[in-house]
Amino acid sequence: MFSPFRSRLRRHSSFQITVWHTVIYALSLAALFLVVNSTVSRLLREKDLKAVSNEVMAVAEEYGEKGVPEVAEYVQEGHSSALNLVRVATADNKTIFASPQTPAAVLAALEKNTAISREKRALLRTPGHDDFELETMRLPHGILLQAGLSVAPRKLFLMRFRRICAAFMLPTFVVGIIGGILFAERTLRPLRDLGETVRRILRTGNLNQRIVLKTAPSDLLELVRSFNQMLQRIEGLVGSIRGSVDNVAHELRTPMTRLRGIAETALRNPDDVALTQSALEDCIEECDHITKLLDVLMDLAEAEAGVMKIQTQIISLPILVQRIADLYELAADDKDLKIAVEVPEGLTVSADPNRLPQALANLVDNAVKYTPRGGKLAISGWQENGEIALSVKDTGMGIDPVELKKIWERLYRTNEARSRRGLGLGLPVVKAIVQAHHGRITVASEPNHGSVFTLYLPVLPPPSKSV
Ligand code: ADP
Repeated sequence: MFSPFRSRLRRHSSFQITVWHTVIYALSLAALFLVVNSTVSRLLREKDLKAVSNEVMAVAEEYGEKGVPEVAEYVQEGHSSALNLVRVATADNKTIFASPQTPAAVLAALEKNTAISREKRALLRTPGHDDFELETMRLPHGILLQAGLSVAPRKLFLMRFRRICAAFMLPTFVVGIIGGILFAERTLRPLRDLGETVRRILRTGNLNQRIVLKTAPSDLLELVRSFNQMLQRIEGLVGSIRGSVDNVAHELRTPMTRLRGIAETALRNPDDVALTQSALEDCIEECDHITKLLDVLMDLAEAEAGVMKIQTQIISLPILVQRIADLYELAADDKDLKIAVEVPEGLTVSADPNRLPQALANLVDNAVKYTPRGGKLAISGWQENGEIALSVKDTGMGIDPVELKKIWERLYRTNEARSRRGLGLGLPVVKAIVQAHHGRITVASEPNHGSVFTLYLPVLPPPSKSV
């Protein structure tokens, strides 16, 4: 019944992190304990062996002076009180002397186990009694000297040491695990908030949600910041797409309505050949207008997909600039605008003969559109630092510094521009064309004083290719 829940829980990152943390933590603690325990027990054993060794040598010295009585005296005087066993035996392992505290069973075991007396060092095990670290020294005439130390105190010490370790390690382990769970929770909270925000957006379709985080590791804060920025961009883009769909619909409705009107008029007068002819001409004009609009959208789609085709040719700039100026002469006259042209004779550029005029025309179109009656426009061209520059300057309404970066975005229009015709597609197209020519474009503008758009193209012709 709980298995789906359990398998979900097992896949949950905080559960996995906690499990891994617990396993690694427990293994580390166990390894630490093993190393410390084995080091302590090794050091204690070495200390015992050294004590036994010293004792055998001391007893041998005593024996060397006056034999067994001296050893007995030495033991009685308590010199060997730290040791539990001192024994002197004949060559055939018969006890001559044994320290009084030596348990009888241990003595019997020593007499029975002749093999152990041949070893220099050995661990003597006697059932029901302590084990002894035993050292044997063979004296002249086969006399055996043995000293032994019970390992019981060492074992007791080690047991207490292990208990103390356990008493420390258990709470450390519990605190470590709780710490691990809290850490996993804290680390993953930003990710959970992120997931929750995404789900909320999916549920409500509302893109104005943001994740608010006060503290988190810097990389997660960075992720959340980028995510919020992405949301902001998507929100802006969706907003402008909604606006532009309205604009496109509006832009298309006018020519479509006009097309229909022209066609209806022609149908109502089937015998009027001249009227029918002029209606057909108007229809072609309206169709061109619609096609142009759709072309712009297609251009942008191509540019955004990186497949805008550029066929370069050497273009004379004075001729091109004059052609564009002539094209906008009527519109400029309507607003009483003056267009000045300044391009040195013989200046050429390697560019696409359709795209470059389109870019320049877009800039001039904007300059005419956003410059109030009586203003001035200048189209200039020059060569500088290995680049051909073409600029369109106006004394128009200018652009707010905050909006300067946004004007290159597809479908973006400033508030001041909304009352004028346009779709917010002109500048993105210019930028796409310039980039397809491996060039760049800059803008300088001051609100209520005017703007200068300058595009720079490389002097050396880039190879004709698709971008
Ligand atoms: P559209 O002109 O169709 O709105 P564009 O992409 O050509 O779209 O321009 C984007 C925005 O940049 C315009 O809406 C306008 O606010 C601003 N802009 C462009 N050119 C100029 C200019 N010469 N003077 C003032 N504002 C401009």
